[in-house]
Amino acid sequence: MTTVLETEEQQALREAVASFGKRFGRDYMMAKATAGEYPRELHEEAAKLGYVGVSLPEEYGGGGAGIYESSLVLEELGAAGAPLLMMIVSPAITGTVISRFGTEAQKREWLPGLADGSRIMAFGITEPDAGSNSHRITTTARRDGDDWLLTGRKVFVSGVDIADATLIVGRTEDARTGKLKPCLFIVPRDAPGFSRHPIDMELHAAERQFELVLDDVRLPAESLVGDEDAGLLQLFAGLNPERIMTAAFALGMGRYALGKAVEYARERTVWKQPIGAHQAIAHPLAVARIELDLAQLMMQKAARLNDAGDDLGAGEAANMAKYAAAEACVKAVDQAVHTLGGNGLTREFGLASLITGARVARIAPVSREMILNFVSHQTLGLPKSY
Ligand SMILES: Cc1cc2nc3c(=O)[nH]c(=O)nc-3n(C[C@H](O)[C@H](O)[C@H](O)COP(=O)(O)OP(=O)(O)OC[C@H]3O[C@@H](n4cnc5c(N)ncnc54)[C@H](O)[C@@H]3O)c2cc1C
Repeated sequence: MTTVLETEEQQALREAVASFGKRFGRDYMMAKATAGEYPRELHEEAAKLGYVGVSLPEEYGGGGAGIYESSLVLEELGAAGAPLLMMIVSPAITGTVISRFGTEAQKREWLPGLADGSRIMAFGITEPDAGSNSHRITTTARRDGDDWLLTGRKVFVSGVDIADATLIVGRTEDARTGKLKPCLFIVPRDAPGFSRHPIDMELHAAERQFELVLDDVRLPAESLVGDEDAGLLQLFAGLNPERIMTAAFALGMGRYALGKAVEYARERTVWKQPIGAHQAIAHPLAVARIELDLAQLMMQKAARLNDAGDDLGAGEAANMAKYAAAEACVKAVDQAVHTLGGNGLTREFGLASLITGARVARIAPVSREMILNFVSHQTLGLPKSY
């Protein structure tokens, strides 16, 4: 898609990932989803080729590049029909947080595995009674000798079953001022008191979402990532990559759907010309392309700011990119399904399930409305209603 905006290495990476992704494609992903299995071969092979851990530091087995490269990988996998949702969570959020704020021991324990695909880490912040208002999270950590005891509930956490551990956002017990004072803990999958229940989602996807219960989960002191008092900063270090990567996920899906629709519209003929000759079909597809390209530009801006260390600037751009990409994706998928007529709803053409898939990017990790709130308040300086 892009040329002059990217270095030769980035373009080469884009091409290599695109052809790698096509080897798997949407049929592979759908077969995995139907079997209820994680696309492990895809994850592991992508990791071996250096794609999964491209943004992680070189000294811990990563590629030493940035979130720009990581988002490029996820976008191209998605455009090939084979996105790895866990790339958002595992290397981009948890890998970034550990790289930037983890202890030397945490880096050595986790980063090489996240990079080479042998380990995966999930990320849990959402709570049933807090939702979009993460200031209300009540998962609480209290000290017990040198250990921590973590208690609370989480919902919609992706991939906990296939992750070796989950990075849980809690708060310290004395921090009940109403202000978010998060702290981050690595909770191993099988820690006593840590239980998970799959949520029955209407998504045909290979990753599952879970409700989590943490009932006095005992964690050694070294499970805390970073500084107890700098939690918010640490959390933001992971949230900008999360939004940028979600934009990449949405862009990939939108590009995949648009590609299928264009292919179909070029061939399908029910009057004299292929249906793509009718402007009622062609123009919405052209709009979809324009909106996807615009969203891609904002994602690239956000990734560059992030990789340059401008967390504040990246915060605004990452929110805008996530918004733009999700909206472009939802519209592209909707138009793609419509372009295929009845075939848009058949399993054979495989587009209908993207309708719910596309909505994920509008809701998670931060909903469309919360981004509009952010831009209203932070960018435009308008007053808050809540
Ligand atoms: C497929 C999937 C995967 C996910 N994976 C993860 C994960 O790995 N880890 C994790 O922690 N979470 C995960 N989530 C959770 C996701 O981040 C939340 O669903 C999201 O933050 C929204 O929270 P909520 O569902 O509680 O909605 P709510 O907060 O209840 O919001 C419901 C609606 O109200 C609107 N709303 C709320 N407040 C306002 C306001 N002030 N102004 C205007 N509108 C408002 C919202 O925009 C939304 O439309 C996942 C969700 C999905 C669907």
